Amino acid sequence: MLYARTRVGEWMHQKDLQKFREQYPEWTSKVTATELGDVKIRPIPLLEDNYAYLVIDKSTETAVVVDPADAAAVKKVIEEENVRLSAIFTTHKHWDHAGGNLELRADYKHVSIYGNKKDNIPGCTKCDGMQVGNLNFRAIFTPGHTVGHTIYLLEARPGCPQCVFTGDCLFLSGCGRTFEGSCATMISSLDKICELDDTTLVWPGHEYAKDNLEFARSIEPENAAISEKLSWVKGQRLERNITSPSTVAEEKSYNPFLRTREGSVLTSLGYDATESAGADITDLRSKALAEIRHKKDSFNYKL
Ligand SMILES: [Zn+2]
Repeated sequence: MLYARTRVGEWMHQKDLQKFREQYPEWTSKVTATELGDVKIRPIPLLEDNYAYLVIDKSTETAVVVDPADAAAVKKVIEEENVRLSAIFTTHKHWDHAGGNLELRADYKHVSIYGNKKDNIPGCTKCDGMQVGNLNFRAIFTPGHTVGHTIYLLEARPGCPQCVFTGDCLFLSGCGRTFEGSCATMISSLDKICELDDTTLVWPGHEYAKDNLEFARSIEPENAAISEKLSWVKGQRLERNITSPSTVAEEKSYNPFLRTREGSVLTSLGYDATESAGADITDLRSKALAEIRHKKDSFNYKL
């Protein structure tokens, strides 16, 4: 695909940066920093609907940035916050996530760039040992969207619950397209997120919440968690406010891509939900995921 690491991809990325800077001279979404104990998380809206995240350890004034696709925008925030950038975490190789890595490293020469080797991340120097100031991070391998897709987990700290930065693996009520893996691969990646503590805050790579919840409602019209979250999201988006973070518990309650075991979802897709009573339902869940993806891709948002 063009968004892979090709010259055409790079040219398109530069064009996109230009286009969206002109279209949205301010931010595409209004964001506020979230302060949790000595951790400060500042979402940075980029391009049409991407988010990078600057995660600051206030006690050491050290920071890491997740998916800084627009180096200039990220640099501005780093300067405003007056922190030392210590690392870049890259969820995957696509330009709208990894596109600013090299430009940022030219300005912050000491910075370590983390990512999975399979994704051949620009400038990638490291894969483990992820401490930033006093903050401990862990990389979790979540292939499916790309072969090397990785999410980053910030361990809980006093006043700060565990946080996960999910890139294009998991969105609020959605999931990334499976470009480089099977549906079974994607299911096992999503299961890794479901196994995290329910209180984990989820910080995804794109602002897709409204469309995703409208789609979820078409799969499970009776699910009250979907309608409640959708009405909150609609209010937020009227003001162009960010909808992140959600929590793992919330995602499990409304995200159809995480609900491929649920009778209500399987029935809605036309499967016999009693099949799910068997021990190994991986095949059934994979088929259900493929079906949900297919429906999502052709979903008409003009309700
Ligand atoms: Zn992507």
